[in-house]
Amino acid sequence: MKLLVTGGAGFIGSAFIRHVLRTTDCVVVNVDKLTYSASPEALEDAASTGRYTLERVDICDGAAVAGVLARHQPDAIVHLAAESHVDRSIDGPGAFVQTNIVGTFELLQAALRYFEQLPAERATRFRFHHVSTDEVFGSLGAEGQFTETTAYSPRSPYSASKASSDHLVRAWHHTYGLPVLLTNCSNNYGPYQFPEKLIPLMLLNALEGKALPVYGNGSNVRDWLFVEDHAAALLTVLRDGAVGRDYNIGGNSERRNIEVVHTLCELLDELAPGTRPYASLITHVTDRPGHDQRYAIDATRIRDELGWRPRESFESGLRRTVTWYLDHLDWCQALQAHGDARRRAGLRGATA
Ligand code: NAD
Repeated sequence: MKLLVTGGAGFIGSAFIRHVLRTTDCVVVNVDKLTYSASPEALEDAASTGRYTLERVDICDGAAVAGVLARHQPDAIVHLAAESHVDRSIDGPGAFVQTNIVGTFELLQAALRYFEQLPAERATRFRFHHVSTDEVFGSLGAEGQFTETTAYSPRSPYSASKASSDHLVRAWHHTYGLPVLLTNCSNNYGPYQFPEKLIPLMLLNALEGKALPVYGNGSNVRDWLFVEDHAAALLTVLRDGAVGRDYNIGGNSERRNIEVVHTLCELLDELAPGTRPYASLITHVTDRPGHDQRYAIDATRIRDELGWRPRESFESGLRRTVTWYLDHLDWCQALQAHGDARRRAGLRGATA
């Protein structure tokens, strides 16, 4: 089986490709524009399998995407390419509209034309798997969880662009018969996450003795999932998911942001002790505009129908993550070339 993965040089995409190459005999073509958040080093071992190719292509370029499909003849597309950082979407929503909405549209059009000319036997097996987020559902109060039937209520430019792409994917299924799968996942963490996101940002700041900037009072709740568990869930849905069906993916690991930072500090105190407890670096800073209060995923459907469940608890996954970052500080240092990786964004200092 040949998979075309978009955004495969990113945090989750690269974990997915490593998982596929390790656990199957699939061939993988990675379509990635290699933006600031891409990390081709995460796939250094992939080339030696002889089953991996990188195509540096922008998904907004429909003709280029069509060319890749024609050349590689994949059996499925797994679509992860996106602008992914909420804070950046507040300062510059244009790139999010372009890649997440227009890019998904161009990809859907190219995929549909490709699908429609496949021989019947291959068309029956073809899948377009769209990877999305729980942020499309909006914000929860103290109670309840998002299910697959929760109404969409996106509130940031990022989540609105992802919600739009989800709607396009469903429309291409219902209107044109494209065989789609759709997954909405909670917050991921793990190796190779770009250090603009909460866990690697706090980790690297702590090691440098810099302030740990917690937004607002730190009471916002996220449901955390180790990235390798997400990768396994994506492969499960791709193999066994019902066409046209949505699956929520989550770790059943709700934590307040302030708790996440404290747990991280305790792990660092143990694994990379400094002269004083890392928690003394915590500072509270201006909150994100429109910061959603709580996300929580009900992952009953994927568990009961497809048998997937996470292998890592938050504590075990975070320990693996901290250990990985401590062992890969050279990768982190190379990213400093990106300059503004840990710059505070999303305070409406700029316009798109
Ligand atoms: P990421 O920012 O680490 O990676 C995104 C990748 O997409 C990068 O390799 C980038 O180069 C590529 N890309 C961006 N624009 C492109 C374009 N126009 N054409 C081709 N490639 C392009 O993001 P991530 O955290 O790995 O997220 C991957 C997907 O999973 C996204 O669709 C995101 O919405 C979704 N998701 C993320 C999370 C999370 O916690 N990170 C949770 C749920 C869902």
